[in-house]
Amino acid sequence: EKINIAIDGFSSCGKSTLAKQLAKKLNYTYIDSGAMYRAITLYFLRNHIDWTDEDEIGDALKNINLSFQPNSKTGDSEIYLNDENIEYVIRDLVIAEKVSEVAAIRPVREFAVKQQQEMGKLKGVVMDGRDIGTTVFPDAELKIFMTADITVRVERRFQELYAKNPNITIEEVKANLEMRDYIDSHREHSPLRKAADALVIDNTNLTPSEQLIKVLEECKM
Ligand code: C5P
Repeated sequence: EKINIAIDGFSSCGKSTLAKQLAKKLNYTYIDSGAMYRAITLYFLRNHIDWTDEDEIGDALKNINLSFQPNSKTGDSEIYLNDENIEYVIRDLVIAEKVSEVAAIRPVREFAVKQQQEMGKLKGVVMDGRDIGTTVFPDAELKIFMTADITVRVERRFQELYAKNPNITIEEVKANLEMRDYIDSHREHSPLRKAADALVIDNTNLTPSEQLIKVLEECKM
């Protein structure tokens, strides 16, 4: 019997690492909900959409088609915006600087949440994000809320971004994580919250494999 697994938490707490591990182990589909908000942000920036204008947002969303397809070599799920693979472009700090603002817009959330719920209909989905256990899949059979020390989170994200852009600084990365955490947990529409029935995992001192073992033990899977 397949279930849905919701993984939420602040930015760079290791949600996607755990989600991918669980998806692989259970042979489930991994969905990166944050990638959808990043993709919408990329579209808005490229097309100079004024996102303070409701009509403009509505028209823009009609032209956005998002999908996830497996990478032909690795099998990893990657996001497409109108048939263009944008999995790597959306990781840029330029997108991270604007995504929380875009993700706070009600019609943007309605657009994304509707598609996320559609993807979960057949079960067997591991989805990570901010509001998965509270809003997207309030009935998910397993909910996990991840936390980690801010220093560790900044360091991990810095290493990822530095590999692609050696001009990036620790301070920039830290400021971005703190800004997103603030906006994501204070916005009006489905803010980041721990679901009451979520299992909390603090991975500050855990390697990815220790983290997986811990989750499997605690969930008796
Ligand atoms: O997970 P990731 O850091 O890629 O998400 C990017 C941004 O997308 C978050 O900072 C947040 O503003 C938004 N997001 C959201 N709800 C989700 C997933 C992501 O608002 N379920």
